[in-house]
Amino acid sequence: MKLLITGGAGFIGSALVRLAVARGHAVVNLDALTYAACEENVAPAADSPLYTFERADIRDRAALDRIFAERAPEAVLHLAAESHVDRSIDGPGDFVETNITGTYNLLEAARAYWEGRGRPEGFRFHHVSTDEVFGSLPADRTIKFTEDTPYDPRSPYSASKAASDHLVRAWHKTYGLPVLLTNCSNNYGPYHFPEKLIPVVILNARAGRALPIYGTGENVRDWLYVEDHADALLTVLEKGRVGRSYNIGGENERSNLELVRTLCAILDELCPKESGFYAQQIAFVADRPGHDARYAIDPTRIREELGWRPSVTVEEGLRRTVAWYLANEAWWRPLQSRAGVGQRLGTGAAA
Ligand code: NAD
Repeated sequence: MKLLITGGAGFIGSALVRLAVARGHAVVNLDALTYAACEENVAPAADSPLYTFERADIRDRAALDRIFAERAPEAVLHLAAESHVDRSIDGPGDFVETNITGTYNLLEAARAYWEGRGRPEGFRFHHVSTDEVFGSLPADRTIKFTEDTPYDPRSPYSASKAASDHLVRAWHKTYGLPVLLTNCSNNYGPYHFPEKLIPVVILNARAGRALPIYGTGENVRDWLYVEDHADALLTVLEKGRVGRSYNIGGENERSNLELVRTLCAILDELCPKESGFYAQQIAFVADRPGHDARYAIDPTRIREELGWRPSVTVEEGLRRTVAWYLANEAWWRPLQSRAGVGQRLGTGAAA
């Protein structure tokens, strides 16, 4: 298939680009190259004749129309977004513009293209979203988010993603655009931008700096290895029912404190110092405003309907991730100097 992937120079988008090209799909990567992007993320795919890059902003409708006309994709996977919760608290405007208005522009450009070509049967608009749209679960680990859980977003980031999900569903109900939606839990893995919790912990630990944890560290997240997310996205694209949404999760609930302790134990093994060296650097910092207590995904639908399940355990995925950061300083070192990143490394980190 010929895929138009937005946000393909970001963390998850680049994993998807790499996997899609490896599986023989033609990929047009549409990305504005914001602070969160890194062209090196797609280096393993970039030399392939199947790969093309379009630097464009999803807020620019004319650019989107041109790209649809020239590149004639058979499906869109929409990942471009402002994605960092802390940044959305400091400056929500960009989140509204990119995540809501940008998604609206992309939907309209896709609809014009799809209608202009006589509504081809196989066309798909796959919108990639987050479990954060569902709000916060009780800490007692009894219930999980299903596809029927009512939306209850709490942060400017999750509210903007929720709004974009509603637009995508409306374009299906109102105009018949063949859409798919996925809501995924927290991702981790190689090429994760060094302002997010897991890279912050690995890099701070290595540098002998504090390992910042919000509040008491009891907030629980479900963690999924990014390459498993990319695989799930291609599975939904190929086999998912039009108009339907699928929750994607790793069934790996960890409190932030448990997660950081696991990372410290892996570092103890891979970079040995005296026993318990890294865990001593854990430092609790003032909690994030409106910090959701717990997210957990019930992935029954994607497992039973589409036969998808993650391939990597969280222990194995975290080990691979730590090893990757230890081996790839040339990738992360320059990114630490980008706007705002160094400041956050010393204070608090978002998941
Ligand atoms: P990211 O911040 O690493 O990458 C986002 C990419 O989008 C960047 O390459 C950036 O340049 C591009 N972009 C931003 N604004 C743009 C614009 N106006 N026009 C064109 N390109 C633009 O994000 P990520 O973590 O890879 O997340 C990708 C998608 O997956 C997002 O939609 C996010 O909401 C969703 N998601 C993320 C997670 C997670 O744990 N990271 C979990 C579930 C869902």
